[in-house]
Amino acid sequence: MQPKPNSLLKFIPLIGGIIVIGSSLFALNFYSKNENNINSSSAVIKNNPLPLSLEKFCQEYQTIGKNLQVWNQETLSQNKILVKTQTYPNLPFSLEAVTFPQISQKAKTAKVPIAMYHDILPKKEVFFDVTPEELESQFQLIKSQGLTPISLDQLVIHLRTGSPLPKKPILLSFDDGYAGHYEYVFPLLKKYKYPAVFSVYTKNMGINTGRSHITWEQLKTMAADSLVTIAAHSKTHPPDLTKLSDEELIPEIIESKQILEKELGESIRYFTYPTGKNDARIRKLVQESGYVAALAMDDNNEIFAGESENLLAIARFGQSRLNELVNKTSAGEFNSCSL
Ligand SMILES: [Zn+2]
Repeated sequence: MQPKPNSLLKFIPLIGGIIVIGSSLFALNFYSKNENNINSSSAVIKNNPLPLSLEKFCQEYQTIGKNLQVWNQETLSQNKILVKTQTYPNLPFSLEAVTFPQISQKAKTAKVPIAMYHDILPKKEVFFDVTPEELESQFQLIKSQGLTPISLDQLVIHLRTGSPLPKKPILLSFDDGYAGHYEYVFPLLKKYKYPAVFSVYTKNMGINTGRSHITWEQLKTMAADSLVTIAAHSKTHPPDLTKLSDEELIPEIIESKQILEKELGESIRYFTYPTGKNDARIRKLVQESGYVAALAMDDNNEIFAGESENLLAIARFGQSRLNELVNKTSAGEFNSCSL
């Protein structure tokens, strides 16, 4: 007797179930075989990054704080920042961030100085010039005192999320795009493996204004190195942006970013106020122009990065205070997470 067609139909869910279970077991087996192969499994997680609280992040990833990098620049100003670590370079982790441009309370326990340099040249002309020999002895001091230079990305991730930092963190910054930055600073950064940020205004590229300025070719070479971050520093370096009209600010804040992006072929995420001067109107325009943070300076109020009002006015110290700063630098309460 032939089975009735409808009696076959009732086996379909059972057959379907066997196929589902079988393929699940196969997939599980495949995944576990590949769990040590991050490249294979990263594709699974890539579009669905793990959201981690900072505490969980610290518990699970005790050793990665100092290697934290931006996974995706677009997330830097959002409420969840995607990061990667040296341990799992192909896996994004999602850290909870405070509302942009505020600074996380957790980051306020750290003491991260940003040292500000200008020209580096063999013969000093003004008091804040630094010779290559002096710069190297400062790098030696940083090394001997156990400080860890970090990148601006690393600092901004930390300021927004309170994420761990390496022991005694410091950020090195060089302003105004001088030829000495390529000739003397860049080789030293590579020698010591120190990251740094260079703030460049575009008007004087490659010319001599009594001081030699860096060329586009030299800047491109530097920008291509993972140790180097390039920040916009206006187009013409006006002494006080707050004195300019909205219209006059457009080339300084918006076009300077576009010019650097076009020449260097990378996104420019940071702005540095010429002579540090800024106010609420300038900061708003900087934010609206797509920058995720801005560096300031104020001779009368040199404070640690975490003490800054917000990400659009991050404070710096003149480099002449380095001797005093090396003893005060600290990664704050999450130091143990990064050791
Ligand atoms: Zn400047």
